[in-house]
Amino acid sequence: MSATKPHLTVKLAAPRGFCAGVVRAIDIVELALKKYGPPVYVRHEIVHNRFVVEGLEAKGAIFIDELIEAPDDRPVIFSAHGVPKSVPAEAQRRNLHFVDATCPLVSKVHREAERAHGAGKRVILIGHDGHPEVIGTLGQLPGDAVTLIEHPEDVARIDTNDGEDGSGLAYVTQTTLSVDDTSAVIDALKQRFPAITEPKAGDICYATTNRQEAVKIIAPGCEGFLVVGAPNSSNSNRLVDVAQQSGVAKAYLVQRGTDVAKLDLSGIQTLGLTAGASAPEVLVEEILDALRRDFDVTVNVEVVREENVIFNVPLELRDVV
Ligand code: SF4
Repeated sequence: MSATKPHLTVKLAAPRGFCAGVVRAIDIVELALKKYGPPVYVRHEIVHNRFVVEGLEAKGAIFIDELIEAPDDRPVIFSAHGVPKSVPAEAQRRNLHFVDATCPLVSKVHREAERAHGAGKRVILIGHDGHPEVIGTLGQLPGDAVTLIEHPEDVARIDTNDGEDGSGLAYVTQTTLSVDDTSAVIDALKQRFPAITEPKAGDICYATTNRQEAVKIIAPGCEGFLVVGAPNSSNSNRLVDVAQQSGVAKAYLVQRGTDVAKLDLSGIQTLGLTAGASAPEVLVEEILDALRRDFDVTVNVEVVREENVIFNVPLELRDVV
């Protein structure tokens, strides 16, 4: 006689998983492989997900850390996170064929930073030190034209050579930050520099905002929350933060179904489940299958917002069928 499995209600967040920028970046690699044949070189993980990267490697993509590793006679693709200006400049100098998969919403932040710099302002970038997107955005401007901050307390160390009221300053942000944590930094900035120039619309992207909103709405009533995503994925880690800040103590980042057995899911009857913007739906299914091994699972899809954003691939790849 088999033991009865405990019942588990899974509240599956919608929207979750792939955003328009990630879909576009993966499409660019796949279309470039079709059009130009393998190998195609990709500078950095095209998106922060090993499963996606390994799938593209199997099709003939070669991932490299720096442009110097790319040969002169093969196409090279820049990742969705964006690159410092020096990278396309170097590619041009070497006459490389490059395709830029930078998400248009990251490019928008780059242009904002450039415009502010062009208007004579020093740029304050709110973001995580060392993240590829932050490296790319810092690299749009000369080093002394931009200051990186992360926390409200960092505002105190901004020097005031550009005007006590902040009239010589403008801020931009990384696209994948916590909406709530970032507004605390922005509040601190505006309190000290009331005349600081703000982006016309917020820089945190629609996908980050919607996935965090869904977690916030679903979290009450959940004793646990799983976020499918990679440890180096900023937006996935922020979803774990949001679940914890919403009162869910057992909130975990999971990469694969095999991770589920290592988690403490004791006492959980209702579990939230979402996926970061770089995590494919097939991994959400894998996690659900792993849960079904130990639980009698009921899945309730919780639709918080509809998404219909699509970004076109670059012109040179639109004729590939
Ligand atoms: S998370 Fe946002 S900024 Fe990043 S690729 Fe997706 S849509 Fe673009």
